[in-house]
Amino acid sequence: MEVIHIRTTGKSCMIDITGQVREIIAAGGMQNGIAVVFAPHTTAGITINENADPDVRADILMKLGRMVPDEADYRHSEGNSPAHVKALLTGASVSVIVSESRLLLGTWQGIYFCEYDGPRDRKVYVELIERRISHA
Ligand code: ZN
Repeated sequence: MEVIHIRTTGKSCMIDITGQVREIIAAGGMQNGIAVVFAPHTTAGITINENADPDVRADILMKLGRMVPDEADYRHSEGNSPAHVKALLTGASVSVIVSESRLLLGTWQGIYFCEYDGPRDRKVYVELIERRISHA
């Protein structure tokens, strides 16, 4: 298992970690299998979305902010319930097929770490599961 360390700078942001995941696959020498990308945090998440127009990320964060307002009848004393709810909506992990040492993402897809309660020091775990059964 490998770890990607991230220092987020904003309260909410989406950080493209596709390149770092690719580097881990290259360093591990895996040809075919699955890369599991997991965020061990309750106020952040992992998702796959568009990697071309940064306005898409801005729109996603804007809409999440409207769906989950900062002020509501939250009970959690830490005061970051909106971040917990956004993390729930995003999910904590993605699994991506690795084929001939390449991440099998669509042309416009990137893997994103989603921060909802920054700035913080964060971690992402990446585990590579190699295919052992060959398809004849
Ligand atoms: Zn909390």
